[in-house]
Amino acid sequence: MTPLEQVDAQDNSSQLTLPNPQTHPLPTTLEQWQNPTGADDYFAEIKPTPAGYLIWSEFPVKVYVERPTEPAEASASARQFHLWLEDVLTAVEDWSMYLPLELVTQAEDADISIWRSSPPLKPVRNRETGRFELPRARSAEASYKFYLRETPEASFPILSHRFTISLSPEHIIKQTTASARHELGHALGIWGHSPLETDALYFSKVRNPPPISARDINTLKRVYQQPTRLGWPLVFNEGT
Ligand SMILES: [Zn+2]
Repeated sequence: MTPLEQVDAQDNSSQLTLPNPQTHPLPTTLEQWQNPTGADDYFAEIKPTPAGYLIWSEFPVKVYVERPTEPAEASASARQFHLWLEDVLTAVEDWSMYLPLELVTQAEDADISIWRSSPPLKPVRNRETGRFELPRARSAEASYKFYLRETPEASFPILSHRFTISLSPEHIIKQTTASARHELGHALGIWGHSPLETDALYFSKVRNPPPISARDINTLKRVYQQPTRLGWPLVFNEGT
């Protein structure tokens, strides 16, 4: 091999491009979902990302939830942490009926990790005054990142995503579960909000938070019927 050929061989990576958007098979749980009340959906509110819709294609989706290191009896703050955990686990269970989820004990292994921490305050510029301001503190936030996952089965890495959820450490009856349920809805693919307060993905907090609604699941199912670049291997471009 001449030096020039070697360089070319090493340079192959630059010929990899993002996978074309394609649909994945619909998860059985969503395929079997019957819409009992003839409810509609709010799919029109869901935004695709640069990689397409935020669809999981390998199940179960692995979920990590931060856990207390002390027993509940140790202190008042430990007890708060245990109550928080219980309520977050309820939300995980709620969604497990519609998409297979598995709890993992290591954050590194997780597709979705849920942390007991207040979402970071991010200064935003006020368009009118030109000054930076701190917005009202939120109690929860979900964010995603893309990465490339190498697998033994595929010759090229798979475009993948991971979600991080920050959930206020404060334990509030009904609200902690409701926030976790809402943010998990985002992490599972509902990247948008419902305009109706009877849906878990309603854009604002409500006094009596609803369970996951038929509209939430109809929307989730439509999301999973969409093509996405996620979950597919990068494409090698023979190109010129
Ligand atoms: Zn939201």
